[in-house]
Amino acid sequence: MRVYSFFLLVVIFGFVGLGTAFSSAITRQAYSSQEETIGSQLESRDAPQNLDYKCGPRWGKCPSGTCCSSAGFCGTTKAHCRSPDCMIDYGQCDAHRVPGGPPTKDIPRPHIGLVPYGPREIRSCTVPGTVALTFDDGPTRYTGDLLDLLDKYEAPATFFITGINNGKGQIDDDQLPWASLIERMVLSGHQIASHTWSHEDLSKVTSAQRIEQLERNEAALRNIIGSFPTYMRPPYSSCLPRSGCREDLGKLGYHIVLYDIDTDDYKNDDPGLIQRSKDIFDESITSGSPHTKSWLVIGHDAHEQTVHNLTEHMLQAIFRLGYRPTTLGDCLGDPRDNWYRKDSRWPGHTNKKKKKPKKGPKKSQPHQQISVDGTCGANYTCFGSPFGLCCGSFHACGNTTQHCGAGCQKDAGYCAIEAPHNGDAWDPKFPSRKSEAGSDLRTVETAAATSLCLALLVAMWM
Ligand SMILES: [Zn+2]
Repeated sequence: MRVYSFFLLVVIFGFVGLGTAFSSAITRQAYSSQEETIGSQLESRDAPQNLDYKCGPRWGKCPSGTCCSSAGFCGTTKAHCRSPDCMIDYGQCDAHRVPGGPPTKDIPRPHIGLVPYGPREIRSCTVPGTVALTFDDGPTRYTGDLLDLLDKYEAPATFFITGINNGKGQIDDDQLPWASLIERMVLSGHQIASHTWSHEDLSKVTSAQRIEQLERNEAALRNIIGSFPTYMRPPYSSCLPRSGCREDLGKLGYHIVLYDIDTDDYKNDDPGLIQRSKDIFDESITSGSPHTKSWLVIGHDAHEQTVHNLTEHMLQAIFRLGYRPTTLGDCLGDPRDNWYRKDSRWPGHTNKKKKKPKKGPKKSQPHQQISVDGTCGANYTCFGSPFGLCCGSFHACGNTTQHCGAGCQKDAGYCAIEAPHNGDAWDPKFPSRKSEAGSDLRTVETAAATSLCLALLVAMWM
């Protein structure tokens, strides 16, 4: 009798639970269809007011002030508005923000030096024995660690900076850590290059949008380091001749830079997969001799495995095989003066910092002497010291995160604010309709499990 009752209860509870979950899923499905109907009805109106309806090439623009997500829905969340996913032609995007300070468009852009400018593309280095490691899409929360690693190996590299991608905010926003990291790059001897303002595909935008993509990044970088780069890499390596992209970049005075070793790191950002990128790198670099060959390598400091795994492997191979890691300009034999264009109207970051004395002086105090033994504090500064620029909490000069990050003494050297290790700002996964479908499935599973537990409890009681 008890056995029959038990099975009866399992069936009843299970059925009720599943029924509730399915009806909830069906209601949501109906609501979703209703939303789409409302969206299509509103499509013809000029300024529809409700959010979360469709936008894009088929549906048109979002209401004023709202963003069109990559999945084609209007909204105002970071997931809707962050570039490069946000559709710039169908609503607002963070890409539409404009950096402060004078625009750079009137600055002369002569083609100085011997390295070719657009429309020609650069795919390799020219100085034998050099390897230019280049990192795209940053700065990100991993960039500080990468700078520590490059310091450890005394390896100069090149950073293709994107101004406002992946929801990170503007690089020149002094409430964010990015400007400090970019300053640290320059101080550590790395090269800064442009990877556009919001990482749009330059083959798919208009000429005016293309120019905007470069000039906004120029203004933001100028706000940080007082000048802007002459080197750039097109996002997705896309700058097709028929789009006019290469001519536009040439007129803007840019060297268009690609690569000859693609580590594919963005496809292998997992401890179990990154070996593939190491193999690609090893296979390429061992195919020539440092007496005759040089290499131009692409990676991304937006990926954890690139920073915490792949880069050290590459650096060790570079030294082991007799190559020298260096900047892009250096591997092309281009003098440092040609890497940037100065904005003579702009005082640069020195005066900008003077506006905020509360953040602490950046230069040594009059009574301070340069540290000659690596110790620092009230009387000794790390500025000018061979031991490193930053004075850590333990009164020692150095260039690592321990020295330049939390606890760094601003009165006794340079400090870089550490990138936050929180948040989903860099999460590439957009919370799409698919995840809602997933949650419906989870509801069904939870209801069935709850019913089973209840039935077991009743059976034990009987
Ligand atoms: Zn990129």
